[in-house]
Amino acid sequence: MRQWADVAVVGAGPAGARVAELLAKEGVRVVVLDPRAPWEKPCGGGLTPHAFDAVPELEEVRAFARPVSALQIESKGSAIDVPLLRPVWMVSRLDLGRWQLDRATTAGAIFRPVKVRHIGKVAGAWSLTTDAGTIRSEFLVGADGAASLVRRVTSPKLQVELAPTRVAYTCLSGPPTDRAVLRFFPRIAGYLWDFPRNTHRSVGVGVPEATWRRPRMDGEVDRYRMEGAPCRCDDVDRAGAVIGTAQHDHGDFSKVAGPDFALLGDAAGFADPLTGEGILNAMISAELLAEAWLAGEPRSYPARARRRFAREFEIARVLRRTMFETEHGVRLIQRAAASPLAWASIWFMVQMIAEHAVEVRSLGRLVLPALQAAKERVRAEAMTGDTALCHCERVSETPAHVTRCSPRPAGLGAVA
Ligand SMILES: Cc1cc2nc3c(=O)[nH]c(=O)nc-3n(C[C@H](O)[C@H](O)[C@H](O)COP(=O)(O)OP(=O)(O)OC[C@H]3O[C@@H](n4cnc5c(N)ncnc54)[C@H](O)[C@@H]3O)c2cc1C
Repeated sequence: MRQWADVAVVGAGPAGARVAELLAKEGVRVVVLDPRAPWEKPCGGGLTPHAFDAVPELEEVRAFARPVSALQIESKGSAIDVPLLRPVWMVSRLDLGRWQLDRATTAGAIFRPVKVRHIGKVAGAWSLTTDAGTIRSEFLVGADGAASLVRRVTSPKLQVELAPTRVAYTCLSGPPTDRAVLRFFPRIAGYLWDFPRNTHRSVGVGVPEATWRRPRMDGEVDRYRMEGAPCRCDDVDRAGAVIGTAQHDHGDFSKVAGPDFALLGDAAGFADPLTGEGILNAMISAELLAEAWLAGEPRSYPARARRRFAREFEIARVLRRTMFETEHGVRLIQRAAASPLAWASIWFMVQMIAEHAVEVRSLGRLVLPALQAAKERVRAEAMTGDTALCHCERVSETPAHVTRCSPRPAGLGAVA
């Protein structure tokens, strides 16, 4: 195989498939290379409501995704229920990948299921060596994820923080649920999630680099799965991956591109530093690059990325430092089980993240609904006597942190 392309895209995840689609639609000769796509990448697969506003084509994904209308937020034995203003949608990455790749190839992109092993330059053009031959291109796009080969070759000084994760894919058990679970740990800027999808659950844990090793992560996931599980569901597939976030030298995005290359998505460190959410940012970065390229100004991509992401990343890092790298986040969750004001603060933060409300005006729009939600909660508390999902008492310290939980009050729904 020997091929010439205007643009060679390494990686066909959310970033690579999206940029290939957008460029091919405009007649650009695009080759996209990925040995695994489409595949079940280890991921929560959560898409926030804002993702559907930002990328309207994602509406089609609702047909094969599962809506979640409330979050159960837990820490150290306390759990609270936080209804969402608009649902978050949980999607299998295999299904999302198929849908995206299909759109890219329909638009005219050429897909090759091959791994890029070596990247060099020959007579001023990029030369990509794969097991099936060489691809030459004028422009190179690195959409090859957090451990990007393209980044190592083109922009080695771009420091990307690689947060490790472990995921267990397990069957759906118990009554149908439209609730996802997030569990936080003291002084750790990571969390455990339980996201119900259409045919299975993604239960996983992600932590900052060098925090927990794999056995500890698997142990937390298993402990969670066993606690009060209506069915043990031992049929589990495990996987791991890293999430890529970068500091971007506090607002300097210049390392994500050069005259004839650009990095997208996780390869550029564009996953959210607080939540690890990166599917939408990968797709948005693809759109920013496609716009810049089609306008004949590929060099404007870093500035476009800075305008789009800098503020959001800054806020996420502040929240991460103040809430989750300290005990504050955990204490707030514990207080929220009894205090409507603490509960309203968490409600506010959850909607802010789900709705990507980073501007003062959009944050302001959340204040009244937060107070209303807190008022409703006080009313519900007066009727049921308690709105906390469960109260747990620690009965042993180590190693299993065994807790004994009182039953959940009726009417608040069951948890998968
Ligand atoms: C466990 C976990 C849970 C997550 N949960 C969520 C979530 O709930 N919601 C959310 O929005 N985000 C989540 N994320 C983040 C999300 O998965 C990423 O941000 C997103 O997939 C980034 O998209 P991308 O296209 O940049 O990279 P990727 O999706 O990683 O795609 C990169 C592609 O490049 C290919 N590739 C790599 N090397 C080569 C090579 N040498 N040659 C050819 N191809 C190559 C890979 O096969 C892969 O398909 C999670 C991540 C992890 C690890």
